[in-house]
Amino acid sequence: MTATATATATAMPAATGGVSTRVVTGLKPTGRLHVGNYVGAVRPLLDLARSVGTQTLVFVADLHAMTVEHDPGRLRDQTRELAATLLACGLGDDATLFLQSAVPAHTGLAYLLECTAGYGEMARMIQFKEKAGAERGSARLSLLTYPTLMAADVLVYRADVVPVGDDQRQHLELTRTLARRFNARYGEVFTVPAAATPPSAARIRSLRDPAAKMGKSSSADGSVHLIDPPVRIAAAVRSAVTDLDPVLSYDPELRPGVANLAELLGALTGRTPHSALAGLRGAGALKAALTEVLVETLRPVRSRYAELVADPAELDRRMARGAAAAAALAAPTLAAVRAAMGIVDVGQASM
Ligand code: AMP
Repeated sequence: MTATATATATAMPAATGGVSTRVVTGLKPTGRLHVGNYVGAVRPLLDLARSVGTQTLVFVADLHAMTVEHDPGRLRDQTRELAATLLACGLGDDATLFLQSAVPAHTGLAYLLECTAGYGEMARMIQFKEKAGAERGSARLSLLTYPTLMAADVLVYRADVVPVGDDQRQHLELTRTLARRFNARYGEVFTVPAAATPPSAARIRSLRDPAAKMGKSSSADGSVHLIDPPVRIAAAVRSAVTDLDPVLSYDPELRPGVANLAELLGALTGRTPHSALAGLRGAGALKAALTEVLVETLRPVRSRYAELVADPAELDRRMARGAAAAAALAAPTLAAVRAAMGIVDVGQASM
């Protein structure tokens, strides 16, 4: 899935198999994680992974980063960087973290699902129409079939819950359709997953342009990245667009710059944007408070990140352990799907 999103611990269905509710989500390695990703996706996932009765699987969706023109060296670097950043945030402790490409059951199941899906339903996906339209005929076939890989990502683990942003809602609906169709045609194998979206997640906007979302591709000085050094964080916040009114108030319409900083400060300190402003006078004080909180919040992430990238072999070992754990969970589903569809099992060729 492109977006991970906005995980929430609410609206969980009943636990399956008496064990736990299984949540699966992926993050595409297409850029450096910023504080918008942190408050909107990573921190909710950390909360979810720590909650009792929940088993969380998080993968770096490297295969999904290949549906459009990509640079191999960049993909390699961004995959390692994302994996290390998520580990540095603590996701490897309570969740199973792995690379999508390291668990072949994802692509193995994706092909089998393609054999149950129609061309028309793939071509109707809004994201395909938008992106393929922009590429005028040169769109990759994987852009068309991407929703079956996303369905496989989720169904292979018999996930109960998938955190999705609005952009992935249609793909999750297709996943549910494919799961139901398979179960009706070939026998009950898949769990039909539910979508989880929080009622209102803070949407952090660019510090330089409060009209635009803070995004992986937005201008570097409009974002604060999770591995930025304190001087870079201070400079980004210092140059944030605000206004000249010394009396701070939370008014997203009339004062979008101040509101954005208040939302970020509030999200990082567990307060409403309004109460985050209490006791502060002037944009300078707001910026100083935000810088301090950002530096303190990101300090441990940055130092763990530095340790991880200093030892690439250990990073790879940790990702390999995650992949082995995920593969063990995926294997029975894939075996059941193959058997249900009539594949004769003569064992696998060794690689
Ligand atoms: P992306 O790779 O940009 O799709 O982001 C991955 C996930 O991070 C999204 O699904 C959101 O949950 C979260 N996210 C991204 N940008 C922001 C933002 N500016 N504010 C809050 N959450 C965000």
